[in-house]
Amino acid sequence: MTLIKDVTDCSTYSVHGLDVQIIAQMNVIHPNLLARIDDLNVELGQSVHPWLIAPAKSSLAKALELRGQKMTINSAFRTIAGQALLRSHYENRRCSITAAAPPGRSNHNGASAIDIEDSEGWRGILNSCGWKWLGSFDPMHYDHTAGDLESINTIAVRAFQQLWNLANPFDLLCADGDFGPATMSRLLHSPAEGFPVVKPSRILRFTQPLQMGTDVGLLQLALRKAGIAIEKADQVFGAGTDIAVKAFQSANNLGADGIVCDRTRKLLGLAVD
Ligand SMILES: [Zn+2]
Repeated sequence: MTLIKDVTDCSTYSVHGLDVQIIAQMNVIHPNLLARIDDLNVELGQSVHPWLIAPAKSSLAKALELRGQKMTINSAFRTIAGQALLRSHYENRRCSITAAAPPGRSNHNGASAIDIEDSEGWRGILNSCGWKWLGSFDPMHYDHTAGDLESINTIAVRAFQQLWNLANPFDLLCADGDFGPATMSRLLHSPAEGFPVVKPSRILRFTQPLQMGTDVGLLQLALRKAGIAIEKADQVFGAGTDIAVKAFQSANNLGADGIVCDRTRKLLGLAVD
């Protein structure tokens, strides 16, 4: 598992796994917020997420039609994970990155910016179609004039916060879409390949090596909720959790073997598959 803060690879493809989870969650929060652009006459690099807000997509389609040429796009929508990576490269003087806004501050995070090849060749047409060239310090970059960075970014940040909270029930973020230092630090400590999906069916028990993970944490919380004293809800199935499981089983006329299978899970209100 590689945390975002430890990624040194230049390509934003290194955070593709987490990106995909954030985009999927954004679509859950706000369906049809983003429109795919890979059905247009464009060539997209491997790490490009082919999404823009709808008005930006229409303007792009118009420009493509006017020039009648294929456009090569090196960056379109960028999640806060991709942006955090670029910013870290920029701050560490890696990957010859000359400009990278902090996460949440780039119009790429608002799905209303593109970085393109042959920027000069496209400039006149893009300018006439609602796009604005950023300037010579970032010559590939165009912003769409209808972009609403704040509202898109709020949804993107909330999507990340919800994903973090699902994976880290003992370190909850306020899922308010506000990108403060607490969220930034969790973003840097998120796995680049995305959060692991814990199968609810793993059989939990006191064993060596000790079982650890979100599913153990949820069990500990459920035991507490059921009125069983449990000293530490630390996501580690240690001796204390074993005692608590057995106490719960005894109280519910289950064999007190400390093994958390379907019957125990159901009585605790935990997912069973
Ligand atoms: Zn750009």
